[in-house]
Amino acid sequence: MARDAINGQVRRPHVAVLGAGIGGLAVAIALIKRGVPVTVYEAAENFSPVGAGIGLGPNSLLALDLINPQLRSDYEKASTGNERVEFQNSVFDVMYAEEGFGESKKWSRGLVGAPYFSRSSAHRKDLLEIMKSFIPDGTVEFSKCAEYVQQSEDAVEIRFKDGETVIVDALIGADGIKGMTRRVVLGKRWPDEVAAKYCHTYIYRGILPMSDAKAILGDHAGDAKWFLAKDKTVAIYPISKGREENFVFFVADRNDWTGLQEAKSCSREEMVADLAGFDQRLLKLLDFARPLRWPVYHHPDTPSYYNGRVCLLGDVAHASSPGQAAGAGQGLEDAVVLAHLMSLVQAPEHVSSAFEVYDGIRRPRAQKVVRTSLEAGDMYAWNDASVGADMQRIVDNANQRLHWIWQHPLPEDVQRAENEFVRLVI
Ligand SMILES: Cc1cc2nc3c(=O)[nH]c(=O)nc-3n(C[C@H](O)[C@H](O)[C@H](O)COP(=O)(O)OP(=O)(O)OC[C@H]3O[C@@H](n4cnc5c(N)ncnc54)[C@H](O)[C@@H]3O)c2cc1C
Repeated sequence: MARDAINGQVRRPHVAVLGAGIGGLAVAIALIKRGVPVTVYEAAENFSPVGAGIGLGPNSLLALDLINPQLRSDYEKASTGNERVEFQNSVFDVMYAEEGFGESKKWSRGLVGAPYFSRSSAHRKDLLEIMKSFIPDGTVEFSKCAEYVQQSEDAVEIRFKDGETVIVDALIGADGIKGMTRRVVLGKRWPDEVAAKYCHTYIYRGILPMSDAKAILGDHAGDAKWFLAKDKTVAIYPISKGREENFVFFVADRNDWTGLQEAKSCSREEMVADLAGFDQRLLKLLDFARPLRWPVYHHPDTPSYYNGRVCLLGDVAHASSPGQAAGAGQGLEDAVVLAHLMSLVQAPEHVSSAFEVYDGIRRPRAQKVVRTSLEAGDMYAWNDASVGADMQRIVDNANQRLHWIWQHPLPEDVQRAENEFVRLVI
């Protein structure tokens, strides 16, 4: 551990994390567990309970475990699997969205999953509640919206909208898809990559009590399903210990999203018109959707996750479309690798070497998740020419494409990170 040059005291670099979403809290929990001093600055007045369901695959569960084994165990107590035994190992059951769900057709359904996979989802609010319980009082400062970041060779200065300025040894930007730290890291070198890009899809989403979902969908509620049609699909899955059903309708959009990257209000009639041809039972779910079109944006190209002593984690680095339900999991994996590296940093001047190693290990994988998630979303909407509307080929393809995400050997990344860091700084 580094000794302060002036008074001989042991001093570890102090890390600031910007943003208390899933990514920011994950890295804060991991840093705390590893004894690295950290303060989280969050723009909102409190932890944000908004959001919907989050599905976590085996790689995300492993990341939770490596962040803090208790975190995984607490999450598992709150998580929700599929209701029926025959769907336990499936991420979803694929069906037609058309009237009658295609149940009278020769091909009527196909499971996507793996023998080693167990369906696991939670309400984002529940996941954040659990994460909060690992954060000591005083670690998160609320109503702290960063508006300016400047770094010198040996420090990072963060200025907040309330006029306060703090100086830290390292800044981890976990400030979400539109986060200002993206400009700090990329703005001068790759200005075109700062803004997120439209995925040409918007969504309608909502959560309804499982009793209502059962009344509408019968046996089709309670287990994760993805109903497909040309240019439009809907995914449903249970959350909140089976008390609620989460749903997301995806609508392909050939146009550009005009104006800001914000949701736009619409009428119920417009929603129904978008989903023409869907089974009436699926359209009933719209009674529980806010009449809002949420554009899906992502960061398909991020040429670097760091600049000096500032680095990016979670959506600000690699926001992904939801086609593989893998976005938050990548933020959790970031947290594992980055926290381990920061625990090895014994002098503030080695922070940027830690970030360089983090970038080299995490960026290729996380960016591949971004790219393939878009491809997967297109395929489910029958817009992948190689499989078209052939449902069995879609299911076969889906069953091939997730293993590299789910079965990733994260502990090997951690070991590699350590080896590379030690080689760089010694
Ligand atoms: C429809 C949909 C479905 C999804 N489903 C899944 C799924 O099933 N599985 C999965 O793994 N992922 C899923 N995702 C992705 C997942 O939701 C995100 O990857 C994850 O929530 C991102 O977390 P984050 O902490 O990086 O960012 P955020 O949650 O956006 O948090 C950023 C935080 O930073 C704060 N902040 C912003 N600017 C500043 C500032 N200047 N100063 C201080 N604080 C600031 C914000 O207030 C916020 O609290 C889905 C996404 C969508 C859109």
